This record gives sequence, structure tokens and C-alpha cells, in this order.
Amino acid sequence: DEKEVAELVAGHVVDVPDFPHAGILFKDVTPLFADGQAFRQVVDAVIEHHGRSSFDVVAGVEARGFLLAGAIAYATGAGVLAVRKAGKLPREVLAASYALEYGEATLEVHRDALEPGQRVLVVDDLLATGGTAEAALSLVEQAGGMVTGFSVLIELAFLNGRDRLAPRDVHALLTV
Ligand code: AMP
Repeated sequence: DEKEVAELVAGHVVDVPDFPHAGILFKDVTPLFADGQAFRQVVDAVIEHHGRSSFDVVAGVEARGFLLAGAIAYATGAGVLAVRKAGKLPREVLAASYALEYGEATLEVHRDALEPGQRVLVVDDLLATGGTAEAALSLVEQAGGMVTGFSVLIELAFLNGRDRLAPRDVHALLTV
């Protein structure tokens, strides 16, 4: 159940103080990806929450979102949209810039990455201010798709990132 999954995530996260900057408590989820049983359970929980036929494409934000997106896509038969950091994609791109909890960044997708009306589930490891997720939302919409929901492993609720994504469904496996 949901409480079990939240405990599973909590048990596989390492809090790293002052990374990558002083004052940031970095949530390191690499132990969750490293544990095959735990990883499978979180992927299954995301799919169960949204419903396996509620999306055509899973958009993962570089880089930890890629790991989730690939697994969710394989398990459901959906495609993957890799939402990339600026400068990585070889063809014509759409871009969205945003302020991060630390610093600023630009995300990109290929202009022709989606078919019109495709339903997209956006996934990432962590929701902080919501700037990253909002940029991913903007890119999906610029590319002609529609976001049917968001999933993150961890939500830092005190930053109210989900307010920027309203009224869309924002699903967090663990809320802190
Ligand atoms: P934000 O745009 O503020 O919602 O930040 C979310 C993005 O930054 C995600 O891609 C996270 O991987 C990363 N991030 C932000 N804050 C943290 C944190 N405290 N621990 C780990 N990752 C973080």
C-alpha cells in the first residue's frame, strides 16, 4: 500500500547536507535504483497510481528521471521522451528555462518529439520548487502533447512546487 511504498522510499534515500551548495539538503536516491526489488516496487506503484493506459509517453527529466521513465515505459508499452539539459539534442529543439532550488537551467526536447495530442506522464526523482516540472510541462505542451500527470519519488512539500502544476495530478511516493 501507499504507506509501505513511502517507507520503502524513505529507507533508500540518503540525506546529504550542503550538496551541491551550502544550505541544500540533497536527497540521494541512488540506493533506491540500486535495489532491484525496491526499484520494481516504486515503478509498479507509479503505474498503479496513474493507470497503465492513461499515458502514451513517459517523459523523464535528465538524468535521474530517465531511469524511472525507461522502466515505466518498458512495463506499460509507452514510449519515452527524454527531457534533456540544454545543448545535448542534435536537431531543432524547443526550450524552457527555469529557476532551480539551486541555480538556473534550460531543458530541451526535439521540436518533433511528440505526435499531436499524445498523453504524457512526467516523472522525476524529486519535486522541490516545481520549476523543473513546470518546464517539462511547458515543453510537452509546446511539442503538442498533453500532460496527464506527474510522479516523483520525493516531494519537498514545504516548497509548494505542486501549486505551479495545478490542477494536474501530482503524485509523490514520499512527501517530506
Ligand atoms: P525544482 O525544479 O526546484 O522542483 O527541483 C527539482 C529538480 O532538482 C529535480 O530534477 C531534482 O533532481 C533536483 N533537486 C532539487 N532539489 C533537490 C534536493 N534537495 N535533493 C535532490 N535533488 C534535488
